[in-house]
Amino acid sequence: MFNIAVAGTGYVGLVAGVCFAEVGHQVTCVDIDEDKINMLKKGVSPIYEAGLEDLMKKNYKAGRIDYTTDSTSAYKQADVIFIGVGTPEQADGSANLSYISTVARQIAESVEKKCLVVVKSTVPVGTNDKVQQFIEDFLINNVQVEVASNPEFLAQGSAVHDTLNAERIIIGTESKWAEKMLIDIYTPFNLPIISVSRRSAEMIKYASNDFLALKISYMNDIANLCELVGADIEDVAKGMSFDSRIGNKFLNAGIGYGGSCFPKDTKALDYIARQQGYELKTVKAAIEVNTEQKTKLFNKASKRLITFSGLKVAILGLTFKPGTDDLRESPSLEIIPLLLEQGANIYAYDPVGMKNFSEKFQEGKLGNGSISYVHDIENALDQANVCFILTEWNQIKDILPEKYKGLMRTPLIYDGRNIYNVKDMENAGVEYYSIGRKPSKRVGVQKVEFQTT
Ligand code: NAD
Repeated sequence: MFNIAVAGTGYVGLVAGVCFAEVGHQVTCVDIDEDKINMLKKGVSPIYEAGLEDLMKKNYKAGRIDYTTDSTSAYKQADVIFIGVGTPEQADGSANLSYISTVARQIAESVEKKCLVVVKSTVPVGTNDKVQQFIEDFLINNVQVEVASNPEFLAQGSAVHDTLNAERIIIGTESKWAEKMLIDIYTPFNLPIISVSRRSAEMIKYASNDFLALKISYMNDIANLCELVGADIEDVAKGMSFDSRIGNKFLNAGIGYGGSCFPKDTKALDYIARQQGYELKTVKAAIEVNTEQKTKLFNKASKRLITFSGLKVAILGLTFKPGTDDLRESPSLEIIPLLLEQGANIYAYDPVGMKNFSEKFQEGKLGNGSISYVHDIENALDQANVCFILTEWNQIKDILPEKYKGLMRTPLIYDGRNIYNVKDMENAGVEYYSIGRKPSKRVGVQKVEFQTT
């Protein structure tokens, strides 16, 4: 078993650290954020991920994991240091590598014995080579440090499960020593390991993420065409899914991808290609489709209503997907400002995302409208004029169509996640619009009334 340090306690670093401890390694997680470290020491996870806190508490109690802001003490005697800090998007689409370089510098100035530095963050091809050189340039002690790539493929919302049951572990190394070390670290997980060069490993991460983004944008593009030609995207996806060359995952149409990875990784690969004088046309198209898709639902509703001014608008779901409290690049961040600008009175519900959202959009009067956060869905729907479904949380999927009809002033629904059957909504008397499917027949009130209270 190894003495492992992990730089960064975000989705990637914390989950990796906890899972390394779970299989028996000795782990120290490092972060520059003192509040996070204090929370972690108390057994509280700063992020919402199923099963994470239980594993944190179990391994902390067993003495296999600790948390610190003191990078020097964590790195100096480590056998392996994993880097899991952020690589956010910059204005030109390129990845910001300043957090990586800070950690590389801290490592170079701390290590006192031979160690392996493993870059888990998603980084442009060639970054591992630069990190290797950078560490050598700044090394204080006369020790050997080798850099390896080990990109992460977990999905937020199922991060712990994905790490313990990963479909593959990609390791990118330049020596037999580094390769063996990474294989030994991952052997207790009993997962398929694919060993390649550092550059190929870096590329596998971008190529995989961008392929998934492309698949989503492709289905959204087809969904938009389905609406125009009278086909149904769900039937189309089902028909496609039986072809094993296509597969049955990532075929759902919706209001576009969000999160911290697909948006930035598509732009980063497009940037990398441009730097090489190459135009990555497919990825560019995926980005374009996604940008338009995020406001599709708002535009659809705008065609139906005169204005949102003075209307009570229920928003169901704020996070970019269920199972996480992460709001990064969430469609809600695009749609809600548009509604507020028009003077909507928003009643927003999300089982875990409201705290983070209210830090960006404070409760009360905002723009020309207002925003309130409600802890039960009924309060959001009660007397609402229109409802937008933005995240497919189970709590939202469980609402029966009759409830919309019973509670809302006008049962008018715009569903960005296609969670209902159109016929069921029609039978319940709900006017229902979704993505890539025919709307329900207009029923009930044709004219939207303004709230009087
Ligand atoms: P995050 O923003 O959630 O966490 C990054 C953490 O690093 C923060 O807690 C920050 O305080 C800390 N940090 C910054 N500088 C530091 C330093 N010098 N020393 C120690 N800690 C420091 O990021 P994330 O979502 O975990 O993503 C990390 C990387 O992994 C990114 O490159 C991302 O693209 C990639 N990735 C993310 C996911 C995902 O689902 N979030 C999946 C696969 C890969």
